Amino acid sequence: MRVRVGQGFDVHRFVEDVERPLVLGGVTFESERALAGHSDADVVAHACADALLGAAGLGDIGQLFPDTDPAWAGADSLELLAEATRQVRAAGWEPGNVDASLVTDHPKIAPMRDEMGRRLSAAVGAPVTVKGRRAEGLGALGRGEGVACWAVAVVTR
Ligand code: MG
Repeated sequence: MRVRVGQGFDVHRFVEDVERPLVLGGVTFESERALAGHSDADVVAHACADALLGAAGLGDIGQLFPDTDPAWAGADSLELLAEATRQVRAAGWEPGNVDASLVTDHPKIAPMRDEMGRRLSAAVGAPVTVKGRRAEGLGALGRGEGVACWAVAVVTR
């Protein structure tokens, strides 16, 4: 097989923490809320990394960057994404593109969507696109308890 597809999903819950930055797709948003997590909790970068790793058959970022390892505490997830991509290439796969759907009502995604795409694309070295979706008031995401992201990646030999 010379073309493979991978899928990634991630979710992080919101915490009230004015000290902690809210980072999505490598972009820091002005917000009183932040996402809980061992790294900077960038769900978009994490979902993209899992999609790429899955496409290459390399597992997931939990295996690559365990949250028990202090080396990754507060880590910049664009660097985690870049490292995951390096491992994908080391395994002989070239990323084709990644497409992500970010589901949240807060913050507003549209104004920063292209900037997220630019930063994620730079980390991957291939086109990454991001779409923002509202949860329409449904469930935990609709109540604003957290942010979820789905991503799909294609890699080629
Ligand atoms: Mg995560």
